[in-house]
Amino acid sequence: MSYSHFLPFNILAFVFGTVVGSFLNVVIYRLPAGKSIVKPPSSCPFCGTVIKPWHNIPLLSYIWLRGKCANCGAVISPRYPLVELITGVFCLATFRRLGIQPIFFVEFTFICLLIAITFIDLETMTIPDVLSLPGIPFAFLGSVLTGMLTWKASLIGLLAGGGSFWLLSFIYYIIRGKEGLGGGDVKLIAMIGAYTAWPGVLFTVLFASLVGSIVGIGMMFRKKEGLTTMLPFGPFLAMGALCYLYWGPAFFRWYFSLGAPKY
Ligand SMILES: [Zn+2]
Repeated sequence: MSYSHFLPFNILAFVFGTVVGSFLNVVIYRLPAGKSIVKPPSSCPFCGTVIKPWHNIPLLSYIWLRGKCANCGAVISPRYPLVELITGVFCLATFRRLGIQPIFFVEFTFICLLIAITFIDLETMTIPDVLSLPGIPFAFLGSVLTGMLTWKASLIGLLAGGGSFWLLSFIYYIIRGKEGLGGGDVKLIAMIGAYTAWPGVLFTVLFASLVGSIVGIGMMFRKKEGLTTMLPFGPFLAMGALCYLYWGPAFFRWYFSLGAPKY
């Protein structure tokens, strides 16, 4: 029984996702600042007032308070409801795809890691090791113990992703004398590879390079700052991995149906 066609469970999955998203907001805000994730309770970043439980309901509180702090009226970043909404939607989508079984919790945790990494990288241009490093053994054990991948497939994905990125960043460093690909990206793609095997790495890197280039060129034209515009690569890798989870296998089936050589 997957229960995925029973409406109340679908609603519950979405609500559960928004609650987890609310926690991810705390992680995104506190982790780069080196603050504890569990203590103290959520407070307004401007006036420091502890947020009352009924003002801390995912999505609804933001709408009800019109995006402002209930005490000082400071504007709350739209990132808060955005992360809650995205996490809710992905929780629902994962539930619809996998039903309630161990793989659901593994995959949803993997997705939560990608969401937190994306928003932290967007704001700080770094991917915290506390998320990406434990993410690698988590992705390996999660995919192997749930029977989704063999340990060989997972390990090859891990090494293909991490190894190729490490080599690229090493070569770039030798040639240009500075860091192009961050170490955080190396660990992130290793984590993605351990969960999606090498086809996932290939898809993710192609997707991230393509979409990253399009966005990068678009930003260059808008800002006219030239090539110095810094753009974090992590969010594009995370987006690529998420797309692979949903459309990757279909993409490869389509690709091979065109008569492409099998490898
Ligand atoms: Zn306030």
